[in-house]
Amino acid sequence: MKKILNYINGSKKSLSKKELSVEDPSTGEQIANVVLSSHEDFKEALESSKTSQIEWSNTTPLKRSRILSKYKNLIEENIDELASIVSQEHGKTLADAKGSVTRGLEVVEFACGIPHLLKGEFSQNVGTNIDSWSVRQPLGVCAGITPFNFPAMVPMWMYPIAIACGNSFILKPSEKDPSCSIRLAELFSEAGLPDGVFNVLQGDKHVVDLILSSIDISAVSFVGSTPVAKYIYEQSAKYGKRVQSLGGAKNHLVVMPDANLNQAVDGIIGAGYGSAGERCMAISVAVAVGDIADELVNKIHIEAQKLKVAPWTDPDSDMGPVISKEHKEKIENYISLGVNEGARLVEDGRNYKIQGYEEGFFVGPTLFDNVHRDMRIYKEEIFGPVVSVVRAKNYDEALNLVNDHQYGNGTSIYTSDGEISRHFTTNAKIGMVGVNVPIPVPMAFHSFGGWKQSLFGDHSVHGMEGVNFYTKLKTITSRWPKSIQSGPEFVIPTN
Ligand code: NAD
Repeated sequence: MKKILNYINGSKKSLSKKELSVEDPSTGEQIANVVLSSHEDFKEALESSKTSQIEWSNTTPLKRSRILSKYKNLIEENIDELASIVSQEHGKTLADAKGSVTRGLEVVEFACGIPHLLKGEFSQNVGTNIDSWSVRQPLGVCAGITPFNFPAMVPMWMYPIAIACGNSFILKPSEKDPSCSIRLAELFSEAGLPDGVFNVLQGDKHVVDLILSSIDISAVSFVGSTPVAKYIYEQSAKYGKRVQSLGGAKNHLVVMPDANLNQAVDGIIGAGYGSAGERCMAISVAVAVGDIADELVNKIHIEAQKLKVAPWTDPDSDMGPVISKEHKEKIENYISLGVNEGARLVEDGRNYKIQGYEEGFFVGPTLFDNVHRDMRIYKEEIFGPVVSVVRAKNYDEALNLVNDHQYGNGTSIYTSDGEISRHFTTNAKIGMVGVNVPIPVPMAFHSFGGWKQSLFGDHSVHGMEGVNFYTKLKTITSRWPKSIQSGPEFVIPTN
């Protein structure tokens, strides 16, 4: 059986004897074991991160940028391999996996501009013969803890920028699909990154807790479910770390009566069922405003029935399985709960079987109508291919639904009314808002992050928020020439 190890100081290794099974979600079969790092593994990774960071931070930003450029080329050359690693362990279609690696690659591309991004501010003569300037300096050793649903993209939201800024980085990927991070680390070494600057430490809560309580790790970036995000935020604060901690979501897509209905339905189908609904920007709630509800539900239903649910090896697959047997059961229990709560189950994805893949973790596209705000299927994140339609009398009621929800990651409105659209983008209490686009995911040179229970901390990820998160600001005030001597001053200078 293949064993997935750590990547420490430029080589694959592990001291731990503890292992966990990794499954192919399409077949349900075990394909590997991943090691669960021990305290000794952690200590080794940390030592190499600390040592390498000193020299790396003294490497000029331009030289760092050139390594990142080579890394970008290597990712492009190996993108098919990276995508198939993602698909096999996660289950998403190959095209979708490739798209996700590309979104990560764009962050590397952004980080190549690091000499420009680190430029500070300068003021000449803030006082007589006194100049003042600010610089952004690296934090030291940073760590990232990432979820199963984007094993390439989410880590790449973090480490390219952290490393470009002069930090070293320890990545703790999800134990459910751990292989891609190792290949990403190998390619970085091939691009010329010194050993130890990027280490990958496999494991579970045990190693997360070692990261959180270490005084040698300055900052933690987390992406995952809200209860764990909260825990990471609280523990990081307790141990004096800088932290950005991104949690779960329940994204609403509001369809106004004047919307292009076919366009809205395409948006809901792609964003609701793509990647089997296992995206933090998936649309899990469609808010039908006014009298379009019946037609909207009908159209979503027709399109949902046409979707091809198949393993990633089938090039015609629209969506693959969910991550695990336990997660499939959790989603199916939510569907049963929705029925018990009184929602109308229009399309039922439970007990979905594909010939030849009977043991795979497949859930079919599921559609609920008449979902209400007090139901658990509305309030909680299901993280599967389940779309709930909530009917709202008017725009105000729809906006209140968006704003009253505990999560605030993404939302979108479909309308042909510019005034409504402007009101929505201004007043939605949500981090990322779309107009006539279903998944408003910001590009690498903007920043990604939600509000409310979807993000704990002050900074979003990537873009300038990323650069600011991974650097400390220093402001220097300096007087030359030294021949000037004016005696001690006891009053705060005013010029
Ligand atoms: P998860 O919270 O179970 O795991 C995330 C990471 O935390 C993993 O590396 C895991 O090993 C670790 N972990 C799990 N339990 C822990 C614990 N008790 N203590 C310490 N560490 C722990 O999340 P997941 O199931 O892998 O991913 C799905 C979740 O991630 C969804 O809720 C989804 O919305 C969210 N997500 C959010 C974003 C975003 O940008 N906001 C992006 C992607 C995924």
